[in-house]
Amino acid sequence: MLLKIVQAGEPVLRRRGRDLTPDEIRSPGVTMLIDLMRETMRDAPGVGLAATQIGEGLRLAVIEDRAAYVDGLSEEDRERRRRREIPFHVIINPRLTIVDPTPVEFFEGCLSVVGWTAIVPRAAAVHVDALDEKGQPISIDADGWYARILQHEIDHLDGNLYIDRMHPRSLCTHESHARLWSGLPIPEVKKALGI
Ligand code: ZN
Repeated sequence: MLLKIVQAGEPVLRRRGRDLTPDEIRSPGVTMLIDLMRETMRDAPGVGLAATQIGEGLRLAVIEDRAAYVDGLSEEDRERRRRREIPFHVIINPRLTIVDPTPVEFFEGCLSVVGWTAIVPRAAAVHVDALDEKGQPISIDADGWYARILQHEIDHLDGNLYIDRMHPRSLCTHESHARLWSGLPIPEVKKALGI
């Protein structure tokens, strides 16, 4: 069963989710929620899905960057984004620490802002402390595309969307992006769009 992904404008996307208790994390309801979120993320397809995006104000997100997605990129693109396969995992009650604040800029999209993409600066490296689906503490050090995914998903749990952080002048429809900017270096795109 697929869950409905809510779109920008829904208040749940703008509220901070609440932490889950250890008992809740291990409950059948949350176990089922995680299964359905995984299925929904894969179907979309996406590399992350936060509970707020399916209308649940909880600090829980699923993340997975599948080999099939990464292999679909050119080697140049893969290297530029420093994108590699990330196995499926769950982050619950995450706490994000910026390790390297150097801004890294790429086009980014969101399953709750369908049809649009924009250039979003993100910190180069982050550390995340969270709980997994069994309620066990996990500690993540991430850079490259994975660091971007984590920042995007944890933003969702704080009630933030990429549109709060994007260069507003870079906002493109997917059609415009594919036709005009796909594969071009970001500084070139920024120059052309007057950023
Ligand atoms: Zn999103």
